[in-house]
Amino acid sequence: MPAESVRRAPLDVVIVGAGAAGIGCAVVLRAVGAQRLAVLERGRVGQSFEQWPEGMRFITPSFTSNQFGSLDLNAVAIQTSPAFTLRSEHPTGTQYAGYLRGVAKHFGVRVRRGIDVQSVTRRHNGPGFVLHTTRGIYRTRMLVWAAGEFQHPRTNVFPGADLCTHTSHVRSWQDVAGDPVYIIGGSESGIDAATHLATAGRHVVVLDARAPWTDSSSDPSLVLSPFTLDRLHNARGTGRVELFGGASVTRVVQDGEGFRITTTRGESFLSDHPPLLATGFLSSATGVADHFAWTDEGTALLTADDESTTTPGLFLVGPSVRHERVILCFIYKFRQRFAVVARAIGTRLGLDLAPLEEYRRAQMFLDDLSCCGVECQC
Ligand SMILES: Cc1cc2nc3c(=O)[nH]c(=O)nc-3n(C[C@H](O)[C@H](O)[C@H](O)COP(=O)(O)OP(=O)(O)OC[C@H]3O[C@@H](n4cnc5c(N)ncnc54)[C@H](O)[C@@H]3O)c2cc1C
Repeated sequence: MPAESVRRAPLDVVIVGAGAAGIGCAVVLRAVGAQRLAVLERGRVGQSFEQWPEGMRFITPSFTSNQFGSLDLNAVAIQTSPAFTLRSEHPTGTQYAGYLRGVAKHFGVRVRRGIDVQSVTRRHNGPGFVLHTTRGIYRTRMLVWAAGEFQHPRTNVFPGADLCTHTSHVRSWQDVAGDPVYIIGGSESGIDAATHLATAGRHVVVLDARAPWTDSSSDPSLVLSPFTLDRLHNARGTGRVELFGGASVTRVVQDGEGFRITTTRGESFLSDHPPLLATGFLSSATGVADHFAWTDEGTALLTADDESTTTPGLFLVGPSVRHERVILCFIYKFRQRFAVVARAIGTRLGLDLAPLEEYRRAQMFLDDLSCCGVECQC
């Protein structure tokens, strides 16, 4: 029987993706009593974290603080703490995937694994969606898109970028060839790569259009984390790290045995192996791009409930949620919007929303974003 012909009863809610956002949102939807709920995942729970390069760690620290009413920065669900579960301050991707599996089990979130959602269409004969997957068709009244950014690397950035290796495709830093290794992009991923390579005795050259290592802001979404700045300081101490700010790369071409990198300032670097590309990630909503309106900067436009402005019933959760200048790219930020989405869905399903009060007390229910622009005074 062809997979497409599999018939299933329509669901109330489908969540696509079982990463930090999908699992965290499922926990809140279960708390308000959503029954006909399915989480579909192309791999296994925490798949993107499992794909992190070996040795890459969380930059946000974990600390067990629930007893004093303060949630671990990396927790996706109330009364949980990665620091407690993993006994690590900066977990690796593999460790964190283990925490997510523990959360799913503890809160009874069943994940249907190995199901890749390949396209989404709106139902013709009523509200809701039809999901075309590798395991047949799913129909649902509402859809929560939690597909993450890590599996959408930003690679189409300049001519010849396809000759480079994006950092999200590196499994082990030992596999990266070149001396020095050229890294294009000096934000978190680029500096992470530089510190790992330099610590392992390699020379690295980092090129960035700006110079993120000198930036200063109260918003950690815009600057390097203290964890990364400390590591960069130590790596520079080895004398093996060269940083070039203001070096906007215009192209990479194959040149004899090597790869020539050119910048707008006319600088030219010859790399003996493919440069590393640390140019970030596309929005998670890229996977269902037609169902969103977009800003010129590539941000999906959302209502106050994080619902698509063009497709009612489609919600976005995770690091790609943005509201004008408010960037929710870290777990401790975007987890506070799960309850906002659960309230919108719960209202339409006629569910009891009282359990959400516990989320508000735990600082897991942020529906007023006007508070989010405050700068540190010192
Ligand atoms: C390199 C890197 C380091 C980071 N470090 C930190 C950090 O230290 N602290 C922090 O708070 N945040 C960090 N972030 C931010 C990061 O985005 C979040 O921590 C987190 O990974 C986002 O969770 P998510 O659930 O949205 O995405 P993911 O963890 O990527 O989960 C998405 C899931 O959806 C599945 N999926 C995708 N498409 C489909 C499909 N079509 N069908 C079925 N399943 C699908 C994937 O397999 C995956 O399991 C980092 C991000 C990156 C890229």
